[in-house]
Parts: sequence; structure tokens; C-alpha cells
Amino acid sequence: MARSFTFEATPAVRAARERSAFVNCPVCDSNVSGYLFHKRGVRFVRCFACGLVYVNPTGGEGTNYFDVAAMHTHEDARDRAAYVDDMVGVITRMVEQFTRERGRKPRAVTVVGRYLKELDASQDLKAMGARFVQTSNVEFQALRLQGDVTALVASFKGDEDIVILNEFLEATAYVRRVVEELAAKTSQETWIGVIFANAQSLPARTLRRYWPRYYDMKSAFLSAPNLAQLFATAAYTMVAQRPVPSNVSAAYFMERVGIGSKLASTVSPLRDLQARIPAGVQEALFRRDTNAQAAEKLSIILPIFNEARYAADVIEAVLEKEVRIPKEVIIVESNSTDGTREIVKTFEGRPGVTILYEDKPSGKGHAVRTGLKHVTGSIILIQDSDFEYDLDDYDALLEPILQRKTSFVLGSRSLGLDDWKVRKYSSTPVRGFLMNFAQVGFAKTFNALYQQDVTDVNTMFKVFRSECLNGVELVCDGFNLDIELACKIVKNGYEPMEVPVNYVSRGFDEGKKINFWKDAWPSYAAFFRYRFGS
Ligand SMILES: [Zn+2]
Repeated sequence: MARSFTFEATPAVRAARERSAFVNCPVCDSNVSGYLFHKRGVRFVRCFACGLVYVNPTGGEGTNYFDVAAMHTHEDARDRAAYVDDMVGVITRMVEQFTRERGRKPRAVTVVGRYLKELDASQDLKAMGARFVQTSNVEFQALRLQGDVTALVASFKGDEDIVILNEFLEATAYVRRVVEELAAKTSQETWIGVIFANAQSLPARTLRRYWPRYYDMKSAFLSAPNLAQLFATAAYTMVAQRPVPSNVSAAYFMERVGIGSKLASTVSPLRDLQARIPAGVQEALFRRDTNAQAAEKLSIILPIFNEARYAADVIEAVLEKEVRIPKEVIIVESNSTDGTREIVKTFEGRPGVTILYEDKPSGKGHAVRTGLKHVTGSIILIQDSDFEYDLDDYDALLEPILQRKTSFVLGSRSLGLDDWKVRKYSSTPVRGFLMNFAQVGFAKTFNALYQQDVTDVNTMFKVFRSECLNGVELVCDGFNLDIELACKIVKNGYEPMEVPVNYVSRGFDEGKKINFWKDAWPSYAAFFRYRFGS
């Protein structure tokens, strides 16, 4: 029998050949990435700088997955009804948030991206002013290959207060162009909602290449921090983000994760199961700062208690420290008994200084929370009232935030050549060693619980945009407010960027107020409380 030796390209080989456009990271433009896995000839990589998972190389015609009916994933009427329910949930939450902040209901909500005709038929959705836009195959390819959103923009009627991108951004590697176009073609007042497959979700991290949402026809896989960074380049700020509990039938779910679809559809008790499954879909909402650049201002919070020895020098140094944006200094004095209050009083009336007097000392965390209530700036920095940290590091800490590369910066005491400088106590070497050891343990625990990669989470230098605290309630009074802040900002969808800073440890005999056993252990427990609790 004659055999043919001509090479028949498999679907995987064809997919690999079609993808010929090598791209930099779609969100941060870095060209350094790590290989993750491949799926049918498509390479998935992760950006080292911002953590984005994306397909590289990209290109070639893709299946228009916006057309849910054509994808045959929602054949069962119950799955289609569940899809409509999910959408009602997302749009209701976004409309409520908008109404709360603007004091009126949105006039119209335009939804682009994935489409199902049942959405158009829903009375609930119609009542909320929702309009659904279909994307033709030609329009889809233009979006996929060039980030061309002519069709999206043409669908705007000018009255939409919210534009929702329903798994829309993932279709292209040119997401920055999409967001820029969107910013240019909508009013300053228009909010942008994003529904996306969250690459940081538990299903994504555990199922990895088997996570159905790592779909090889998509190009970029976002997470809340990536999205915040992406939208920040066009001066948007994140209002809220949360998981979308997907309502699907068990049959649908089993088919998606690739286990026995036949089994699921033939065994009727399984087929009839309906469950809310955390499928790893997330929603996020963005609005634009009306005059973001002009309004930049640094708010420095300076809690002071029984620091007579250092108080005047520290306040003077902070006031003298010049940064390239206007600044205010909020001093919180907690009724010291050593004359500190009198020293603080001498600064009353100095320009840019707000002094708050607490009736009694209720802890450093309490003082910081009091200060936070009076912040008027766009960026917040908390300064301890001693000289353990170097004020000259302010500029380096602020720059990534001002350049909108991140919204949250941690000054790391460990990212340096002399990385054992956290606790160097000549008089108490054993305690010094313990403190160093604890700091490493803290960072490792934090990384494991919050999927981060930081070297120093206990640092005093936490600098962040005020919106990082949107919707966050802080409750700690003591030193562990530091930990609460880091945990809750990360949980709120902002990832810290670390900047190495200088640090000179102050010995316990010089009045250091941290007690290792009294303060460290509650802080450590706090990691778990904020991760799994409220
Ligand atoms: Zn990146």
C-alpha cells in the first residue's frame, strides 16, 4: 500500500503557524515574560513586570466567541437563562453603585462583547436601560488583530452613562489602544464596567491550562491589578471589583472542564443540578478623574506620641522635604505626657499643616485612622515620627504612582545589597535576629495568602492612591493597622510595587515602641483574619 509522506499540519501546528505577531506585554509593554504552557499550539506566557497572562506570539483569524449561540456552549435553555441572570446581577450592581455616587440612575447602559439574543428579550435588563451590541465576524477580527474598536464606538448613542465590556478586552493583545479609544470617544462622565476572566482567581491558579477560561482564541488574561493599571494609563480609577458568581448547570460545568460531557448529559440527576460556581469571572467598574493631573497632591500622615526627643526635628524635616507635587502634613498628636504636645503646638498655623489632637492615646493605628479622615490629597503616605526611615526616599516611592505605573508602593528594606539591615542591634543581637527572621516569615506568609511576591510587608513606607481605600473599612488601633492596610488594599484589587529604601534601625533602648511578643503575633494572625474574614 502506498503511503503518503507529505506532512499534514495538525490543528495545533496550523494554530502555531498562524500566530506570527510577536508582541510586548499588552498592559505594561515589558518584553520580559516567562513561559507558562501551551494549548493546541498557542503559547501562554506571563509578564514578569505586571503579571499579565497573554498569548505570544499572537495573530491569525480567531473564532468570534462573542456570539454565544454560535459557540454551542449554552445549548440548554437553562444555561441561557442562567447567563441572563448573571448579567442581570452584574448590571444591577453597577447601576446601584452609579446611582449611589451620582445621585441619579444611569440613562443608558451599553454592553459590548459576548452576546446572546435572550439578553435583548429580558424585561429586567430593558428596565435598567441596558442595550446589547452584537459584533460581526469582520468587526471581531479587526478588534482581535489591531485593537480596532470602530464598531464599538459606532454603537454609542451618546446617552450611555455606563459602557460594559463583556469579556471584550481579552479578545485582543492591543488592549491599550482599546482603552485609549474608549477614553477619547466617551464623555468624561461615562463609567466603564469590565467583565473578565480573572487570571488570579482560584480556578485559574489551580486548574492552570485546564481552566476553561484560558481559551486559546483569547489574547490577554486580566486580573483586577492589571486592569487597574491598564485603565490608569487613561486616567481612570477603579471604583469597585468583585467576583461574579456564575450560575450554571452541572452538565455545563463538567463539559467545560472536560470531564465526561456525555455522562453528565445522560445521567439526568446530574443534568438537572444547578449550582452557583465560582468560575473565576470578575467584574470591575471604572470612572474618570475629571482633572487628575492638576489635582495630584501628597498627604503625609504623621502620628506622634511621646516623642519629645525627636518630634521637632521630624516635623521640621517632613515640612522641609520637597516633592514635585503639592503636599499637606497631617499631624496626629495623642495627648503625650512628655511635652510632645507642646512641641507640636508650635507648628500650628504653618502652611500646609493640619494638626489633630486626640483626647487620649488609643494606639498608632487609631491615630493614623484619625488622620486618614482628614486627607484631601490624591496620594497618601504614612510617616513614623522617628528617623528610622530616610525622607529622601519619598521621591523614589512617589514616582511610580505619579507615572501611573502602580497605585500602591511598598518601600522594601530587604531589596538591597545590605539586606539584613532591618534589625541590627548591637546590644540585643538575639532579639535582632528574631526580628529579621520574623520579617521574612511575615512576607512569606503574606505572599502565600495573597498571591503576592513581596520581600517586606511590615515596612512603614506604604504609599498609595486614596482610591485604594474606596469601600475599605479599617478597624485596627495598634501597630497592626500596617498589616490591615496592606491586606485590605490588596484584597481591594491593587497590587503593591516594591521600591528599595534605606533604613536605620532604632534600638529598643532608644525608645522603640514595638514589643515583639505583644505586637508581632496579633499582626501575624491578622494576615489570616483579613484573608478569610471580612
Ligand atoms: Zn506586563
